[in-house]
Amino acid sequence: EQPDTNKIIKMQRFNSSKIDDIQRISLLQRPIIKSSDILSKVHPIIDDVRKRGDMALIEYTLKFDKVQLSTPVISSPFSPEDMKIDDTTRQAIDQAYDNIYKFHDAQYDRSTLIVETMPGVTCSRFSRPIEKVGIYIPGGTAILPSTTLMLGIPAKVAGCKEIIIASPPRKDGKVVPEVLYVAHKVGASKVVLAGGAQAIAALAYGTKTVPKVDKICGPGNQYVTAAKMVVQSDSSAMVSIDMPAGPSELLVIADNTSIPSYVASDLLSQAEHGTDSQVVLIGVSLTPEHLSNIENEIHKQASRLPRVDIVRESIPKSFILDVNDMEEAMKFSNDYAPEHLILHFDDADKWVEKVQNAGSVFVGAYSPESCGDYASGTNHTLPTYGYARMYSGVNTLTFLKHITAQKLTKEGLKNLGYTVMRLAEVEELEAHRNAVYVRIKDIEKE
Ligand code: NAD
Repeated sequence: EQPDTNKIIKMQRFNSSKIDDIQRISLLQRPIIKSSDILSKVHPIIDDVRKRGDMALIEYTLKFDKVQLSTPVISSPFSPEDMKIDDTTRQAIDQAYDNIYKFHDAQYDRSTLIVETMPGVTCSRFSRPIEKVGIYIPGGTAILPSTTLMLGIPAKVAGCKEIIIASPPRKDGKVVPEVLYVAHKVGASKVVLAGGAQAIAALAYGTKTVPKVDKICGPGNQYVTAAKMVVQSDSSAMVSIDMPAGPSELLVIADNTSIPSYVASDLLSQAEHGTDSQVVLIGVSLTPEHLSNIENEIHKQASRLPRVDIVRESIPKSFILDVNDMEEAMKFSNDYAPEHLILHFDDADKWVEKVQNAGSVFVGAYSPESCGDYASGTNHTLPTYGYARMYSGVNTLTFLKHITAQKLTKEGLKNLGYTVMRLAEVEELEAHRNAVYVRIKDIEKE
């Protein structure tokens, strides 16, 4: 079906004082993702890779990515020839790398937390890297060095011993050179030339050439996401994942101090991701003139985009909500829990403290989402679908775990022992009580 190129590219419009609760709830919802069809497709692929390993991996890469490989893995050191990129691109990647590294390194508190909870009872907590991690970089026609940076850098900062990248190969059987250059910079040991459920299965269970990992992170299409959910819930895989992922989202709050061309450009930068992208504009007492300036800009800028056909589908599915004041705008945003939140008004700084649920916040007219997507330092792998209510985006802690420890002195055990014995008695766990009693008895004899 050909898109109607004469049609004005326009968002739907609602007014908060004219919608009822049911409409409000429906505006807060994301499109339902039907997972049963996908699951029935990924299960056999996962089982097959588990059974037949590399052979299955090679066959699925031929089937889905149309590439015949002799081996599904390349190992470091990677060939300089395969990492060749132009100077300007390398400088841009290096700059992004430095900023992202700086911000993620600062997140890593390497000190041990020590607290004496009672005299002689000392509790402590320290962190250790997750040893082996798998990073999925979506492929197809996309070139995604940015996603490789966003996942590889925190893994490197955390000190993971082995970083394995998986990504569908290009038609010539190679990895995109920009991705391989970043793989080299973050110290990845291997790149698995496979995508989809087969790549996730190889990382989760291991094959002859792919080491089994402890955690799998990274975005991907619905096959990738479903496969991550499947392996996570299989105890024999013994693997965890970063977070559930869905189509990308953006919510912009703008008032009459916003610059229409900037607002439109931000909405479109998200809408071009895919036909299922979600963009929302909350207009705070916008004058009809200001609103129509924004709408005109959306149409004008959209028409010039190379990905105009995607935007023609995603923009009409998106909406503008008119509200009366900033409190109301913030309330809607917190209920929606957007992946990206842009505050497009003069005193934006002051409102950051009102943000309860969001993946990442962009404050003021000069902070486009694109900067966070690529190079300012924050991570772009963020919770979608409302999961910003309870999940954080990928960060250095994603690749670490915390271990606690305790040391009780004789005095400490004397101080705490009777409490523990009483609680063990209440729970009728005599062996627990006894482990304290045999000691207390001796201490009290002294
Ligand atoms: P992908 O790498 O996620 O998936 C490609 C793989 O899908 C193929 O290798 C194949 O194995 C599998 N596949 C395709 N059709 C299949 C079928 N019929 N049955 C079983 N498996 C099949 O690449 P993509 O498809 O281009 O998707 C990219 C996704 O990543 C998009 O959803 C996009 O929104 C998301 N994305 C996210 C970010 C981010 O957050 N950083 C960046 C870029 C892309």
